[in-house]
Amino acid sequence: MTDNGKPTRDERVERAEAESREASTEVLVSASGTAGGSYAYHDMRTAGRPLCGAGDEETEYVTVTIEEAQRRNKAPCQRCRYLDSIAERD
Ligand SMILES: [Zn+2]
Repeated sequence: MTDNGKPTRDERVERAEAESREASTEVLVSASGTAGGSYAYHDMRTAGRPLCGAGDEETEYVTVTIEEAQRRNKAPCQRCRYLDSIAERD
């Protein structure tokens, strides 16, 4: 982690390698590229909203595949992955 909490390039690569889902799985990235963690892609909770609750009413998210998100140099949102892993255990 760097001081501003943004992952380093190596961390992004590690996270991408940790991705176990299908490349065609749909995830969310922020449309603006700024708010809500522009470097991360999120699991979808309900249509258009991230599982982890990132962003706010003003934050616009677009649906892309994991493959596309990684092509944009984004990494899985760690909070979404954590929440998803808890959900799977229920
Ligand atoms: Zn998230």
